[in-house]
Amino acid sequence: LTPQDVLGELDRLVADNRRIHDADCVNLNPATNVMNPRAEAMLSTGLGSRPSLGYPGAKYEMGLEAIERIEVVAAELVAEVFRARYAEVRVPSGAVANLYAFLALTEPGDTIVAPPPSIGGHVTHHAGGSAGMYRLRTVPAPVAPGGYTVDIDELRRVAHEVRPRMITVGASLNLEPHPVPAIREIADEVGATVLFDAAHLCGLIAGRAWPHPLEQGAHLMTFSTYKSLGGPAGGVVVTDDAEIAQRLDAIAYPGLTANFDAGKTAALAVTMVDWLVAGQGYAAAMVATAARLAEELRAAGVPLFELADGAPTRSHQLAVRAAAWGGGQAAARRLRRANILSCGIGLPEEPVDGDVNGLRLGTPEVVRLGMGPEDMPELAGLVARGLDPDSDPETVAPEVTAWRRRFGGVHFTAQQPG
Ligand code: PLP
Repeated sequence: LTPQDVLGELDRLVADNRRIHDADCVNLNPATNVMNPRAEAMLSTGLGSRPSLGYPGAKYEMGLEAIERIEVVAAELVAEVFRARYAEVRVPSGAVANLYAFLALTEPGDTIVAPPPSIGGHVTHHAGGSAGMYRLRTVPAPVAPGGYTVDIDELRRVAHEVRPRMITVGASLNLEPHPVPAIREIADEVGATVLFDAAHLCGLIAGRAWPHPLEQGAHLMTFSTYKSLGGPAGGVVVTDDAEIAQRLDAIAYPGLTANFDAGKTAALAVTMVDWLVAGQGYAAAMVATAARLAEELRAAGVPLFELADGAPTRSHQLAVRAAAWGGGQAAARRLRRANILSCGIGLPEEPVDGDVNGLRLGTPEVVRLGMGPEDMPELAGLVARGLDPDSDPETVAPEVTAWRRRFGGVHFTAQQPG
């Protein structure tokens, strides 16, 4: 390949990605979102290639007056949106945010208790992820019968038996509020701390549509900034505890970052302004739209995972029981052929051989593109037809694309959609 070939191919790949995400497909994967174009523009302003080593007011390299101000503004805005005393924004991703939390509050060889994959527990809390790489031993939290969270009585028993240094809560699928106050009580009994992983829930927490984990007793909260939050790829840790904040500060610098991405930090600041201006409306619309989508899917005969009281969800996410499709990833691949984007997830029921047993859907992106509850009957019909084993999903794809093209712009920003 010549250099020109490579550049040409990259241009084509960027155009392909735009076509897939911005024109052809409806994105029901809750792990992604569209950004405010003003935030996205921050990623190509020349900030990202500049150094940022050191503390504001005492940067090591010269000429960083503007960049150190961006760092301060972003951290202050994150703290304001999340109603927290301290925000650490020099974090490359949600996965690394969890590593920051482990480094701050545990030692290699310690035991932690974390949600298992059958209730959406993330790999970063387990052997294959940052917990395991830091040599923590993870004991899976017991699962509540008929729910999608932990069983508190069993958790108390397990915690007294294994004496964890930390109990984590929050997952890649969250269908009902987690019992954080009771978890904190158990943690206090055994001398553990509580980490709330809000990778997915952070938008609902920012928009006051979900109980606030720090107010409920979590010692610290980590999250990704590009899922329900709709910002650039990155991570954040927030806490109200001054000593934990000081440890996180030393982990960020000089610990795990020297220079961080100031372009991403500026994009995060723009995203926070959106949350201050329009966040409550956005969070409420994500939840209302997910509830309607679930209702319509159920009416169309799609088997949904249900909570103990029969409700499919109280959040912006929902899950299809995917055994009939051979598993969640198999169902997601089928929907991809219908131009509907989604992915697999674990559910606390019969496993499926060689696949996860659930299909995860969510509303962050469709709502930000301007869809609401009133659009869900039509969308649920397209999803149900895409999943119908008796029809070819490719016959649904053109209709999905035609429907997708009716929506556009980025809603719930400090400006109106453009
Ligand atoms: N924690 C949970 C619960 C997640 O679902 C994810 C998803 O990727 C992460 C952490 C990691 O976040 P990131 O993709 O920002 O590294």
